[in-house]
Amino acid sequence: MKVNLNTRILSKNEQAAELNRGFLADHKLACLNLISSPGSGKTTILARTITDLKDKLRIGVIEGDIKTDYDAQRIRTAGAAAVQIETEGACHLSAPQVNWALQKLPVNDLDLVFIENVGNLVCPSAFDLGESGRVVVLSIPEGDDKPAKYPGTFANADVILINKIDLISYLKFDLQRVLADIAVLNSKALIMQISAATGQGMQTWYDWLMDQQTSR
Ligand code: MG
Ligand code: ZN
Repeated sequence: MKVNLNTRILSKNEQAAELNRGFLADHKLACLNLISSPGSGKTTILARTITDLKDKLRIGVIEGDIKTDYDAQRIRTAGAAAVQIETEGACHLSAPQVNWALQKLPVNDLDLVFIENVGNLVCPSAFDLGESGRVVVLSIPEGDDKPAKYPGTFANADVILINKIDLISYLKFDLQRVLADIAVLNSKALIMQISAATGQGMQTWYDWLMDQQTSR
């Protein structure tokens, strides 16, 4: 007898994703799954967003890392509730892990939950967490070949944040190539050029976030 392990694991994930979707809908919570390489600035984007929107949007964060709670600590310092998932080697978050973390957040006092996935452009995009939207971050120092090399991740994004845009004049990065490659993969994604370090372009991102919350 041949046992298809992949099918079994995926369906367990799918079941938990459905539970998460129901839970989020019951609590009128928007939930965004944030995916990128390590070092693209996900946590910095979240920390600045939390600080800048603290009087407008109640944000909670689920942090996924292989090891350490460094990012959850940064989020708490910025003023939001955070739950850390340490995956102990796994290179993506799964829906059951997110289900566990959602129980630990003060969901009745929140408008929006961010899930900061494990830094990895390969497999996080294959796992439905029950989120209401997907945000992919690409930063200028990573290079302009990433959408072409990791098409699955960019094809499934609702928003693509091109972060560290303030560095573009110092590095070899062909923005037109990136925009053209994304256009082939994904015609619906909103593309925003931002710098979480300087604040450039962040207002567009905040406006979109406010819309996510009110559309729930
Ligand atoms: Mg991080
Ligand atoms: Zn993985």
